[in-house]
Amino acid sequence: MGRTFIENVAQKLRIIPNLDRPDSSGASGKLRNFPAPEEWHDHVELDANEWPKMVEKRYSLVPTTCFNCESACGLLAYVDKDSGHVSKFEGNPHHPGSRGRNCAKGPATINQINDTERILHPMRRVGPRGEGGWEEISWDQALDEISTKIRASLKTGAKDRVVYHVGRPGHEGYTNRILKAWGVDGHNSHTNICSAGARTGYALWHRHDRPSPDHANAKVILLTSSHLETGHYFNPHAQRILEGMMDGAKLIVIDPRLSNTAAMADHWLPTWPGSESALFLTWANMILEKGLFDRDFVENWVNWEEWLEADYPEEPQKFDRFIELLMEEYSQYTPEFAAKECRIPVEQVIEVGEIVANAGSRLATHVWRAAAIGNLGGWQVSRTLHLLNVLTGSVGTEGGTSPNSWSKYKPDLFDVPPDPDGWNELHFPPEYTLSHYEMSHILPHLVKDGRGEMDVYFTRVFNPVWTYPDGFSWIEMLQNEDAVGCHVALTPTWNETAFFADYVLPMGHASERHDVNSYATSSGKWVAFRQPVLREYARREGREVEFTHEVNPGEVWEEDEFWNELSWRIDDGTMGIREHFMSPYREGERITIDEYYQYMFERIPGLPEAAEAEGTDPLGYMRKHGAFLIEEATYNKHEEDGWPTPSGKQEIYSPSMVEFGYPEHSIPHYRVMSHVHPDNLKGEDEYCLLPNFRLPQHIHSRSANAKWLAEIAHRNPLWVHPKDAAKLGVGEGDILKVETEIGWFIDKVWVTEGIKPGIIGCSHHIGRWRRKQDSGNRYMTNEVEIEDLGEGKMRMRTVTGVRPWESDDPDTNRSVWRDGGVHQNITHAVQPDPISGAHCWLQKVRISRPAEGEKYGDVEVDTNKSFEYYKKWNEMAKEREVHPRGERRPLWMNRPLPPRKEHWFIRE
Ligand code: SF4
Repeated sequence: MGRTFIENVAQKLRIIPNLDRPDSSGASGKLRNFPAPEEWHDHVELDANEWPKMVEKRYSLVPTTCFNCESACGLLAYVDKDSGHVSKFEGNPHHPGSRGRNCAKGPATINQINDTERILHPMRRVGPRGEGGWEEISWDQALDEISTKIRASLKTGAKDRVVYHVGRPGHEGYTNRILKAWGVDGHNSHTNICSAGARTGYALWHRHDRPSPDHANAKVILLTSSHLETGHYFNPHAQRILEGMMDGAKLIVIDPRLSNTAAMADHWLPTWPGSESALFLTWANMILEKGLFDRDFVENWVNWEEWLEADYPEEPQKFDRFIELLMEEYSQYTPEFAAKECRIPVEQVIEVGEIVANAGSRLATHVWRAAAIGNLGGWQVSRTLHLLNVLTGSVGTEGGTSPNSWSKYKPDLFDVPPDPDGWNELHFPPEYTLSHYEMSHILPHLVKDGRGEMDVYFTRVFNPVWTYPDGFSWIEMLQNEDAVGCHVALTPTWNETAFFADYVLPMGHASERHDVNSYATSSGKWVAFRQPVLREYARREGREVEFTHEVNPGEVWEEDEFWNELSWRIDDGTMGIREHFMSPYREGERITIDEYYQYMFERIPGLPEAAEAEGTDPLGYMRKHGAFLIEEATYNKHEEDGWPTPSGKQEIYSPSMVEFGYPEHSIPHYRVMSHVHPDNLKGEDEYCLLPNFRLPQHIHSRSANAKWLAEIAHRNPLWVHPKDAAKLGVGEGDILKVETEIGWFIDKVWVTEGIKPGIIGCSHHIGRWRRKQDSGNRYMTNEVEIEDLGEGKMRMRTVTGVRPWESDDPDTNRSVWRDGGVHQNITHAVQPDPISGAHCWLQKVRISRPAEGEKYGDVEVDTNKSFEYYKKWNEMAKEREVHPRGERRPLWMNRPLPPRKEHWFIRE
């Protein structure tokens, strides 16, 4: 194709290179999209730093996956063949989920691995826990000391005193296998501050607890909050939403905040938080009234007979009667009712309702975090949203919404130890009968309440002191050596929780570790390989590497090898642990990490054949490509397998809800009023604080060392609507005091129409800190002083904001920003939903002008108050505690690491 006039001019002005010269691969000819995998070990391109000179650079391109959110998008590491170091990361076009694209956080992996302040050696605390004294120790010493403590705990017979608490997961089954080998019910996760509300609503319908919307093929895309697109499956979903829109799909975003996604929507509905279920039930009612429901799907795949039998035994047990009764049940949900609850115009309720009602089988819906994790009764949001999919017959269809497990591959492991022989009541207290994830956010309160202690507590890429609500209660627990005998932080970077550890063990970033990933980012099913790229580079160059730490910087280990080594040392030869770490290929010898993945990849459907076609084995294929597509699309699986519920159908009627003491929730309704419902706010002075969103450039608590991300965004002002700003008498940049139930913080004002009046927004992923004695993350941390004011009262004040510093990287001296934001999460009270167990993030707050002497960044919390407040919410669960047949919780419901069945019953 000939060049355009503009290209000719640009070439003459040397704005673009001479298009007649050799292309970036070194070959002459036309520009190409990307080199083929066969050329990845010998890739040549021009060195951008040498421009305008044409200097060639030789690279080995090694695929791996991003570790900066759950999506596990493909990355290609450019290993410079001269230096042997990684120069940059780009997308891997052969990854079926991300297809060569990444968000800003993917390429910023290079910042993380080159962080001048990263932890390079195992550290052990010196002096009292939390005071900031550290010494470097050898891995040998760390492994010996920690394994001795674990052995001592296991030998007491306790099954709940060794705990692994995960922040960022990102591997399939690895640590669950380890915990099983140790025999402990010791898995704890962050899910109850993340997605547990939504999961409960979905699980009630079909046991699968996550949705997988087929955005690319949808007619209507309905997102309940944009949070997903700004932080979860972000890039893989964003690209498919755009594809759907380019094909004519309508995008509807429900969010009190004008997010980036809402700004792109055809319809933005800024509903009052917690009112979403009223809207969905109104739309359900419209679908029923207009006769637009999918009769075939609803009649055959929904347990409507169970509902009639239970609640209407005298009525004809006929499908048509079911529909009539359902319409009667939902007749209260009129557009006027929804408009009043949501505080949006009734015309908008009707106009958008018509679009949803006519979507048919191509309705792609999603809710993640956001409303479902914000509100008391948030689980109702996903339950009523899924009702729309059920009625329109868009469950499991092309362009509809499938269960995510249909698109997720669960690998075969070389050895599966027995399920844990115990039940951990610190994770699953008996009163939370329907919480299918661990009650991790109330752990410090359960401990304070005398419900249990831990001998060894691992935090893994997990920072509850900063990320969770009520962080001072976490500090209190971590500093109590009777409650937490030993705290081991596994982390690639310093964080606020690691400051309160006994051991800090450096683990690899994305390109320095092994994991296998499979996520429902589209309608297909794929598996990807996160591999340590310098290990693979060494292999390509013919160098033997036994352990990944041989090629990682400093003494950074990867977790897989760490767990294997630790497990081996725990067992003194009498505990039966070592038998779970033997090679499946070499009799009597320990398994290697290559064998672990070899075994797994040999069993992935279709992979051995694909490998053979390329003249390699499955492990070789994954090392080369980094990912494999198992199925193009996974629609309509229920037609073969049914639904994994007790009825085998979609459960509009939940016998479990009735049996476990919540009969008013037998079918989807809007019967729990959010704690931030306008009726629960005291007049004009109380506001709803919307903290559960983040800026799309940030990782939960691992971006403060990523200079590019920090430069893009580093502060979290209060989003205040102009009407509220006028009422409060404040303007841009003024400061306000935000009082929660347990404390307060002071932040600056950003006046914007992008937030609903009556709601104050504040991103919860900024406001990182370190004390004078702490290290790391200086691109985004304020230096703070923490003061114990006595009687449970704690104060944090900013000493200095972000400051440049000297290092080997000249960029550390170039940061032009000084404001590191405010740590608001630490002032939030825990609010565990009595049904889902999820933390209800939204806070009722009072807003005022700060008193004399109170400054930007100040934070104060009363931990005694926070304990009392927790008790109030905990009472809601206790009041309704019922255990039919002695069951702790419904036997059919999932648990991340389920113990043996006998432990699912309360013992007398
Ligand atoms: S969406 Fe962004 S952060 Fe998440 S895996 Fe993909 S590139 Fe990484």
